[in-house]
Amino acid sequence: MRYQSVRMDQIPPYMFAELGKKKAAMIKSGIDVIDLGIGDPDLPTPAHIVDKLVEEARKPENLRYPQFSGHPVFRKAVAEFYKREYGIELDPETEVLALIGSKEGLSHLVPAMIDPGEIVLVPDPCYPPYRMAAVLAGGMYHDMPMVKENGFLPDFEEIPENVLEKARLMFLNYPGNPTAAVADGPFFQNAVDFAKRKGIIIAHDSAYNKVAFSGYKPPSILEARGAKDVAVEFGSLSKTYCMTGWRIGYVVGNRDVIKALAVFKSNTDTGVFTPIQLAGAHALLSDQTCVDTHNDIYFARMKGMIEALQEIGIEVERPKASFFIWAPVPAGYSSSGFAEAVLEQAGVIVTPGSAFGPSGEGYFRISLSVPNARLDEAIGRIKRKIKI
Ligand SMILES: *Cc1c(COP(=O)(O)O)cnc(C)c1O
Repeated sequence: MRYQSVRMDQIPPYMFAELGKKKAAMIKSGIDVIDLGIGDPDLPTPAHIVDKLVEEARKPENLRYPQFSGHPVFRKAVAEFYKREYGIELDPETEVLALIGSKEGLSHLVPAMIDPGEIVLVPDPCYPPYRMAAVLAGGMYHDMPMVKENGFLPDFEEIPENVLEKARLMFLNYPGNPTAAVADGPFFQNAVDFAKRKGIIIAHDSAYNKVAFSGYKPPSILEARGAKDVAVEFGSLSKTYCMTGWRIGYVVGNRDVIKALAVFKSNTDTGVFTPIQLAGAHALLSDQTCVDTHNDIYFARMKGMIEALQEIGIEVERPKASFFIWAPVPAGYSSSGFAEAVLEQAGVIVTPGSAFGPSGEGYFRISLSVPNARLDEAIGRIKRKIKI
């Protein structure tokens, strides 16, 4: 008897689901584990957004099946957000689609775009669902190595011709998870021009588009000339407004790609709960002070953690965006060896860089999405207990 498809045989359990089990076992055995592994904001969703959800949830007309491509109010809010933030015009009808979180959308984009045997280009290291979606669609992925010397940006000229022949889709992600790297306008322009020459669709994941510090403003790929011909951009309310559990995101850009994804989705899911969409629209269009407040908190946490790492001999530059620190492991350690040592010596979970792809080897990722007191405790333990 077979209990899963051959495709599924190639899919490991989701890394963070596995880490969660290990953590639960350690906690059960009485160890006070501090989890700096997963990126899930500890800060509460701002009250005005929760209030809006409650208000809308009391209206019976909002409790029925939602519209497939998203509530018009939400799609219009996303378009207004793009106009306000980037000066980009979007048609809410055809160039915006609501998603049940961006993970849902970018995973479903892959089978909507590629056929079996075709290739998805993924940054290496990257957010794991990009690779798995390619495999689940019966396709293949090709890692585009990213190194520190190149600012953790992929070098498109390095992609072999025989790979490019079968490549249909490319993922990019800036500000980046796990590297916290950022990309500028010229990089996106080059990516768009390259994709046009090679007939490749770009899916830019901008989950951290508003998590940035000291006045830095991450650009949108749609600012590049001709971007709408080849690119879509995924966005999420999860990180910006601390709404990870709500499940709401969006994709904007090329209307043909969006149409294909909308058809795929209308055959497999039924959209986001309407009150969540209306609260999401409210989040995008109301006072943005909460975003600055959150960013100030992450920035302060980052400073403390970077100092602690320095004390034990690990040097990292202060990131411009995201709530991650991507740090080199000390000499003599592998990524997983160091993550194990940190867990054993300090009871702190960090993510080994190798979990994000082969080029992540030699690094580890710290997520700053834990309460200040816990982070301070982790910082103290790292300073006192880690012997490298
Ligand atoms: C957190 C994260 C997402 C997922 O966001 P959701 O909208 O909550 O699904 C997507 N991409 C990256 C890179 C992330 O870190």
